[in-house]
Amino acid sequence: MPELPEVETVRTGLEQSLVGRRFDRVEARRPDLRFPIPTDLATRLQGHRVLRVNRRAKYLQIIIDDNSADRTVVILHLGMSGRVNLMPAPDAGPHADLLKHDHLVFDLDDGARMVFNDPRRFGFIALSRESALDDHDYFKDMGPEPLGNAFNAEILSQALKDKDTPIKAALLDQRVVAGLGNIYVCEALYDAGISPKRKARTVAGLRADRLVPAIKDVLQRAIAAGGSTLRDFAQLDGQSGYFQHSFRVYGREGEACLSPGCDKVVKRITQSGRSTFYCSSCQR
Ligand SMILES: [Zn+2]
Repeated sequence: MPELPEVETVRTGLEQSLVGRRFDRVEARRPDLRFPIPTDLATRLQGHRVLRVNRRAKYLQIIIDDNSADRTVVILHLGMSGRVNLMPAPDAGPHADLLKHDHLVFDLDDGARMVFNDPRRFGFIALSRESALDDHDYFKDMGPEPLGNAFNAEILSQALKDKDTPIKAALLDQRVVAGLGNIYVCEALYDAGISPKRKARTVAGLRADRLVPAIKDVLQRAIAAGGSTLRDFAQLDGQSGYFQHSFRVYGREGEACLSPGCDKVVKRITQSGRSTFYCSSCQR
């Protein structure tokens, strides 16, 4: 499942290819993904240019310059297996045939084609007005962006101070911090030396001072590596991310802990139905 660094990688690619381009033709090739596809998707986008491509948590927000004071925003979520493919303008002849799971097709004014492909269809697309975005159901209860200045040790401590849940579960709660998923929570807790089983309220204070920079650091390193490719994730040009080679605990059950001087192996436990990987000696 794409997490924040993977979505940010897609956003950067879309920004480079889409901003300033006009949608000449938009086609939904089925009525629904995880949710119904807006029936007015084509009519609201065709003939208009892309102004910006933003990201909020794991959601892409494509802002359309549609000559209205309150612009249209396309909200796109990749779900479990969604992929955005960008085919450059063909020198001659038509584009390659569409594939079975190419559900959304966007033809651009420079001849390039953007396709949303999603075999499992947990992804979804929605439309909003720019002014209504912060109050949209997807975003209204969402916590701060982990890479933004609004996410700091004080804010995190405040969010954790009454929580008896394990810190692992608290960090996956999108109201505490937006966009963190299983992989990067495991990695950040390891880097900060904090046990995933520790009660969240005991992380408030000094431990939050260590945890916040660890979260920002792992996300920034993953973005720099083009994200992590586990099953399906690919960048716009089909290339894989390579941060999965830098995991220190995730997916390393039974392998040696990488901290110097530690002779333990990485353990795997299940928390809230998800695998947690950690070192019982280095993380307290
Ligand atoms: Zn260790």
